[in-house]
Amino acid sequence: MKESKNGRPVIRFIGAGIYGVTAASFCARAGYDVIIHERRSFIAAETTQFGPAYRIHKGDHFLDQHTNPEEFSRSFQSFFREYGEAAAVGYPHTYGIAREGSKTTPQQCLNFLDRHEIRYERTNSRFLNPDNVALMIKLEESFINPEILPEVMSRKLGYPNINLRLNSHFKKEDLADGIDTFIATYSMMNELLEDDEADDYLFKIQENPIGPVDSSLIGNSVSVFDGDFPSLDPYGLTNKHRLAHVKKAVLAKNVGKMPIIPAHLRAVVNQGPFTPAQLRRLGIESRFEEMRDAAAEYIPLAAKMSHEYSVFSIKSLPSDERDLSRKSTVRRVSDNLGILHGGKYQSAVLAAMEVVRLANERSGLKVDPEELVGTETRSRRWSGVSIPTMTPEAAPPIDERYDTAKIRLDDLDPDRSFERWFK
Ligand SMILES: Cc1cc2nc3c(=O)[nH]c(=O)nc-3n(C[C@H](O)[C@H](O)[C@H](O)COP(=O)(O)OP(=O)(O)OC[C@H]3O[C@@H](n4cnc5c(N)ncnc54)[C@H](O)[C@@H]3O)c2cc1C
Repeated sequence: MKESKNGRPVIRFIGAGIYGVTAASFCARAGYDVIIHERRSFIAAETTQFGPAYRIHKGDHFLDQHTNPEEFSRSFQSFFREYGEAAAVGYPHTYGIAREGSKTTPQQCLNFLDRHEIRYERTNSRFLNPDNVALMIKLEESFINPEILPEVMSRKLGYPNINLRLNSHFKKEDLADGIDTFIATYSMMNELLEDDEADDYLFKIQENPIGPVDSSLIGNSVSVFDGDFPSLDPYGLTNKHRLAHVKKAVLAKNVGKMPIIPAHLRAVVNQGPFTPAQLRRLGIESRFEEMRDAAAEYIPLAAKMSHEYSVFSIKSLPSDERDLSRKSTVRRVSDNLGILHGGKYQSAVLAAMEVVRLANERSGLKVDPEELVGTETRSRRWSGVSIPTMTPEAAPPIDERYDTAKIRLDDLDPDRSFERWFK
């Protein structure tokens, strides 16, 4: 393994989303000299901040037998130790199973929850339309606050042995220097790999509208499985929700090595939020009304949603559409090259530990990655926002941290400014 002048082994990451940043931070803590290349001018610039529904699953995903509860529940503790401050914990999530078109029956769903000891309540939720929803259950789950996550991520990079290179679009030929490298570029993974190293993925380009719905829904997440799969998820601690609809939201999809982005969408995909007026100016027809009306058949309040923004993202999934496991992949493709593909937020810390293990095999360092969880010590700014330092000694025990992150619904400020994300 290459070493820097001070004798430390050098490791490099491409992509400063949650996967690249977390793994880089763990390697820095383990004693590597770390370089990160990010093509954008800030971190968490693509999927991590603007793609997801932000749900942190306790063990379920689709509430059925196809998902990957083991990875999710294993990842939960370690994720909260690193990212608890960016989570809004213990909010009500209402799930329904559609009467028609669902691959999961109500009984399969209940069996799944019982088998994995996921606590739930059966409910007659007024958020769901009983004519179209067969089973309604309520769980306490958490979600990521996208307004805070980038700040917490930026602190992970506050080590003197991390060299973050922003505005640095890494190219395949740059790999020739032989530095041990992990690619964490999510949908762009294969751009840097040879054909025989590259997996196929299923890519979906999708639109997600954001806007206020109704005050009674603030802080609530509502999803219907799986059929058409409409959902409304809180957009952080704002009064807004993010609308999804598995069928209607998908603007294009392909299976292959690279996503095919239709030409008219290139200006908006992974570029953050756009207002309806901006979309009109760009000649892009939003799916908002179609999605809202389709979602309202299952979640009647959806009809009240206003359209303030839409985000357009690329989902990068296993190429077999039936594979709903949302597993993360960490593996070497050759001697000095590995991939780090993110399935779900909460697996980012487990994946980082696996990267340390793989790197140690090359470098001979002996640090146990389990011991690195929750040991972040320094603070430095990348986002221009002042971030307090939390030393391991000063960090409250894990259960109290859950409480710190818990913000009561009454504390939500419906007028909270959302604008700083949309300059
Ligand atoms: C629509 C949608 C909904 C989702 N919902 C959820 C959910 O509810 N819960 C959940 O846990 N997960 C969800 N996910 C998954 C989650 O968002 C991802 O697993 C996670 O954000 C992936 O992070 P990442 O760091 O791998 O990728 P990214 O955040 O995309 O980071 C990759 C980085 O690589 C950079 N890059 C690319 N190419 C290069 C290059 N050549 N040189 C330098 N830099 C480069 C990019 O600019 C980007 O910053 C969802 C994803 C999508 C798309």
